[in-house]
Amino acid sequence: MKEEIDSCYDVTIIGGGPSGLFAAFYAGMREMKTKVIEAAPYLGRKLPYYREKFLFDVGGIQAITAGKLVEELEAQARTFGPTIVLSQLIEKMERLSDGTIRLTSHIGETHLTRSVVIAIGGETLVPQKLELPNTKKYEGRHLHYSVDDIEQFRNKRVLISGGGDSAVDWAIALASIASFVGIVHRRSDFRAHEGNVSKMRNSSVHVMTSSQIKEISGDEEHIELVMLEQTETGNISSLEIDEIIVCHGARPELSGIKDWGLGIEQNRITVDAWMQTSIPGVFAAGDVVDYPGKLPGLIAGGFMEGPAAINRAKAYLDPHEEVRPIWSTDNEVLMAIHSRA
Ligand SMILES: Cc1cc2nc3c(=O)[nH]c(=O)nc-3n(C[C@H](O)[C@H](O)[C@H](O)COP(=O)(O)OP(=O)(O)OC[C@H]3O[C@@H](n4cnc5c(N)ncnc54)[C@H](O)[C@@H]3O)c2cc1C
Repeated sequence: MKEEIDSCYDVTIIGGGPSGLFAAFYAGMREMKTKVIEAAPYLGRKLPYYREKFLFDVGGIQAITAGKLVEELEAQARTFGPTIVLSQLIEKMERLSDGTIRLTSHIGETHLTRSVVIAIGGETLVPQKLELPNTKKYEGRHLHYSVDDIEQFRNKRVLISGGGDSAVDWAIALASIASFVGIVHRRSDFRAHEGNVSKMRNSSVHVMTSSQIKEISGDEEHIELVMLEQTETGNISSLEIDEIIVCHGARPELSGIKDWGLGIEQNRITVDAWMQTSIPGVFAAGDVVDYPGKLPGLIAGGFMEGPAAINRAKAYLDPHEEVRPIWSTDNEVLMAIHSRA
């Protein structure tokens, strides 16, 4: 196991989604030595999953795409210079004899910290994969389970598989960008919003119902042909395709925190009003927590719970500190940065 390369942090935030990023900013305001550890190779994981969609319920901002909100959150989180570690899934949490907490990631790297804020989101949404033998070699290149950048499909022949809102939304969005858009759905009816289904049917999108992808062929570099099976007749047809987007929904999974000794009910960490978990010095915030009155699945919730957790962590580390909110308007670092802007 690789030994700790850096010294102990005041607080380590596990998860770089909106709750974790805002908590990191707030920890900076409270002058805590802060580390954020994110499993994905980029920050804000759930938001990039729907990066082109608009959010209309972030306080004080009328409309912002999820992608832009991640940019803003990241910039704000970096204000006080926290250490940010990407591509490390924390798998283990243990307390050492001196009270320090040691976190271990899936690559065996260890991180020492005096307190922890767990902000790993509800369950991680793991896309339902296409169950075909040779899909692995195309994944992430020409076989997609999410759309990071719509421009990558410009002038391409795109096949979308699925019948829900995401499949239909992407078909409509890509119709004016791609050279060909086909949608294949194994049932005869779409589950998506009726208005959007009509819009799609009246567009250039080639709709194939009661059909499913049977086989993908190509070389190591490209997809060339997709074989489709008509589910009622068993007839096989083929389509020349460059890119495939699979929208078969996502399966919720809680990343491996179940063995950490936390109070967990129905896949949520039980916390008190200060976001304190059942383990002293370990707090939680955002979609992963549950407490009486918790409104699940709202970014706004994490924006309150992160500061609550950090304020409590500050008092946990220094019993002379009160658990109290502070105002950003009086923060000299922030005033200096923004008066220069
Ligand atoms: C399609 C869609 C539309 C939505 N629209 C809205 C909306 O309009 N308004 C709204 O308020 N909310 C909306 N939401 C919900 C919103 O995205 C979530 O409430 C929000 O992302 C929760 O933030 P979080 O930081 O608590 O968790 P997440 O965003 O899930 O972030 C958790 C992070 O922790 C990381 N992680 C997980 N496990 C580990 C680990 N063991 N080690 C290290 N890192 C880990 C994950 O990779 C992830 O980046 C929407 C969600 C979806 C999917």
